[in-house]
Amino acid sequence: MNRVFNFSAGPSMLPLSVLEKAASELVCYGESGMSVMEMSHRSPDYEAIIKDAEAMLRKLMNIPDNYKVLFLQGGASTQFAAVPMNLIKRTGKADYAVSGQFSGKAFKEAQKLGYDVKCIATTKDDNFDHVPVITKDMIRPDAAYLHICFNNTIYGTKYGYIPDTGDIPLVADLSSCIISEPIDVSKFGVIYAGAQKNMAPAGLTLVIVREDLLDYAEEKMPTMLEWKTMAENDSMYNTPPCYTIYMAKLVYEWILSIGGLDVMKEMNEKKAKVLYDYLDSQDYYIAPVKADSRSMMNVTFVTGDADLDKKFASEAGKAGLKNLKGHRSVGGMRASIYNAMPYEGVEALVAFMKEFAKNNPKK
Ligand SMILES: *Cc1c(COP(=O)(O)O)cnc(C)c1O
Repeated sequence: MNRVFNFSAGPSMLPLSVLEKAASELVCYGESGMSVMEMSHRSPDYEAIIKDAEAMLRKLMNIPDNYKVLFLQGGASTQFAAVPMNLIKRTGKADYAVSGQFSGKAFKEAQKLGYDVKCIATTKDDNFDHVPVITKDMIRPDAAYLHICFNNTIYGTKYGYIPDTGDIPLVADLSSCIISEPIDVSKFGVIYAGAQKNMAPAGLTLVIVREDLLDYAEEKMPTMLEWKTMAENDSMYNTPPCYTIYMAKLVYEWILSIGGLDVMKEMNEKKAKVLYDYLDSQDYYIAPVKADSRSMMNVTFVTGDADLDKKFASEAGKAGLKNLKGHRSVGGMRASIYNAMPYEGVEALVAFMKEFAKNNPKK
């Protein structure tokens, strides 16, 4: 059976070598005589796996010692509630920038919980075709944090800069761009990410939090959402998502083996460039995102004709290029080209786009 090029936004492709390694030890892990899926999370074999996963991620992302790394469950969406519940007590209010659907959901969740939150910037009126410019003077000086979504998975936009928030902690959802390139963790108070875009199968949520921000949790909040409890228990307050953490470890190991995030970034830039260069060179397809906000991970485009868009996704699927249909809320096409997408996948996509344009002239 041939593997396809899977452009899904998430869950998404995993590196073939990682899947093969996992398969090779699926039934018996090392000398343990059992699968990682069957292990007690308190066993020495599993302790070693989760410790290695954390150590590898720290090395990969160059995470400073005063940051905790938490392996949690609930998806990035659970953090939409956990973020205010863990931080708002710092000052009693928080600011949000809304640059797409997920940052909008994060803002709404904090509102739903009854908090004093303010949207200080949004690009909604421009259909989220770029990210907002955020300057320090826009943020309320007594905000407990500023929340942003760094890469907007649905619209295909990304911050080309890290907003300067001064002393106000910057909280960022990095679900769809984490470990795609080096990033200065020290510029953030909290980073969180669902694993199923660029890191592992679904079921794991990563939180990286500066230690001094662990002291503001609401007294009345679910223990499972409390970062401090999870940090004090090394993500083992309860059963962690054991197998997914193991898969993440294999992914970290793979990136380290090819040279770390500098090399990963080069590879990702090269892939994105092939696609954007083609989009810029023709006028059959339209790339709606403004040049300075283009995502390296999620590339969106349309033909301008909804029927042609539909035909494109369907015919591409038949040609082994799967899941190119845009998000149901925006339509068009979206190619998610995360770490695991090989260069050949993007080349094949561009070749298909040229063929399709030739065979389907617009009326
Ligand atoms: C997918 C995604 C989410 C939602 O993640 P879940 O793990 O499904 O809750 C949130 N934010 C961003 C940026 C995403 O890409």
